[in-house]
Amino acid sequence: MDRYRTGSETETTEVAARLAATLAPGTAVLLFGDLGAGKTTFVRGLAAGLGIDPEEVSSPTFTIVQEYRGGRLPLYHVDLYRLEGREVDDLGLDELREEAVMAIEWADRLPRRLPGPVVLVHLREAGESTREIAVERPAEAAAGESAEEPRGR
Ligand code: ADP
Ligand code: MG
Repeated sequence: MDRYRTGSETETTEVAARLAATLAPGTAVLLFGDLGAGKTTFVRGLAAGLGIDPEEVSSPTFTIVQEYRGGRLPLYHVDLYRLEGREVDDLGLDELREEAVMAIEWADRLPRRLPGPVVLVHLREAGESTREIAVERPAEAAAGESAEEPRGR
């Protein structure tokens, strides 16, 4: 587990960009944290680290899955905020992920543990421009073992 304390949006994107450089195809980056914690900002940094224009990354409003290309790997950006467990299953996320990196905001809404490599990123607001970020890469065999309890339904 790696812990960071960032003092600006830029610092958060830098942490994410360094992580992105190490990600293998098929990795899901599960993002946990309240509104304003910095999940979308972190995804912007992932994009930058993959060689994608970070300005393409927006907070998905009505789009649940966005795809950004032009980098080392495609990046899928998923926001589960408005979805329920069964609807998440219908998205077919596992297949999309295969040759890409998939960043999932509100990952606590996932109805089940994801197969394959995952990175867990917990973000917490610790002051107006301070964020605490914990990055955990569970061993693949135990992937998701330490994830939050899925909200099965
Ligand atoms: P979320 O997707 O978790 O709702 P966003 O990334 O959309 O959060 O928003 C985070 C907000 O917090 C932005 O307005 C950003 O400018 C602000 N912010 C302030 N300090 C930081 C920091 N250290 N890291 C990330 N965002 C920060
Ligand atoms: Mg967001």
